[in-house]
Amino acid sequence: MRTNAGPLFETPPASPTAAEERPARAWRPRRLLVTRAARSFAHGRAILTRAAALGVEIVELPGDRLMLPAIDDPRRAYAEAKATLAVVVAPPSKRRLQPIAPSADWRVDLAEGCPAHCSYCYLAGSLKGPPITRVYANLDEILDSLPGYLGQGTVTSRSRTRAGEGTTFEASCYTDPLALEPLTGSLSAAIAWFGRWQADAQLRFTTKFADVAALLPLDHQGRTRMRASLNPPAFARFEGGTARTAERLRAVRRMAEAGYPVGLTIAPIIAAEGWQQAYAALFADAAAALAALPGLDLTVELITHRFTAGSKAVLDSWYPGSALDMTGANRTTKRTKFGGEKQVYDADTMRALRSFFERQLADRLPMARLLYWT
Ligand code: SF4
Repeated sequence: MRTNAGPLFETPPASPTAAEERPARAWRPRRLLVTRAARSFAHGRAILTRAAALGVEIVELPGDRLMLPAIDDPRRAYAEAKATLAVVVAPPSKRRLQPIAPSADWRVDLAEGCPAHCSYCYLAGSLKGPPITRVYANLDEILDSLPGYLGQGTVTSRSRTRAGEGTTFEASCYTDPLALEPLTGSLSAAIAWFGRWQADAQLRFTTKFADVAALLPLDHQGRTRMRASLNPPAFARFEGGTARTAERLRAVRRMAEAGYPVGLTIAPIIAAEGWQQAYAALFADAAAALAALPGLDLTVELITHRFTAGSKAVLDSWYPGSALDMTGANRTTKRTKFGGEKQVYDADTMRALRSFFERQLADRLPMARLLYWT
């Protein structure tokens, strides 16, 4: 089935700053590819129906391999992939959960890829191939496997201060699930599933998007923690295609009012010129947005910017004009537990950042629980 044949290529915003100045609209891919296997799942078919109703071009693939035309120009190849949503089936290997320190006991993927254009995107170093967003049609199989992991966690479950969260499942490792929600409904389904699951468990997701309207009426039973992933408006140039910071903060407030536990993921913390003023303003905005919320359950996660040689090479090709500093200034090399290397801020910069953030947190958000600094 093909509907709405639009132009083949979509160019990402030349300047993410320009994109940030207007309110984020729901993402509408240029085209949706659906594999044969995905069409046999009701959830996959529901996504097709939603996308077709929005006028998205639907391409039914004859088999289960994703195919995009070969394009030599890397920038056009990037734009082509970013404008594509694929509905696929997560194979058993992808459904075997991995621990995801320091956020959660387990990583659960509802999708892979993201339509936004952040100049530091961590997916650049994690996902292989063109950055097509893939959403999983076999959501029920994914969720139904989770009880097998209950009580088996080794990350938050083993933490003295976080064991009270129960077995935790992080849904934002390889995607921004809220960005895809108007098309997929996967996040709502997962939240409702955890609401029905009478177990000591928690779904977690973090997002740079803000359209939470569909999540507010869900019977979540407090078993989903929504966090907004934040950077100050002054750094919006690094986060093309995402919702504005003020919208994300408003979304956190609305979720808290709907009884969800909430959080702020300040990530990635960027030590660019003017960072003290920029982040001080962010803390002030967050404090104002979350004032006078009785019973607020608020956590904070602080994650400094880092990159690897591999992710830098990919990001340089995706965002050649980005102002994000990845030159190696103020950096030191840290070995990862998988034997690789990453560039993190050097000890002096880390010390300055950490004491600043801890002070701001104590002054502006004394009711928040800091989960980790990294
Ligand atoms: Fe990457 Fe997150 Fe930005 Fe999406 S919102 S492009 S996943 S950093």
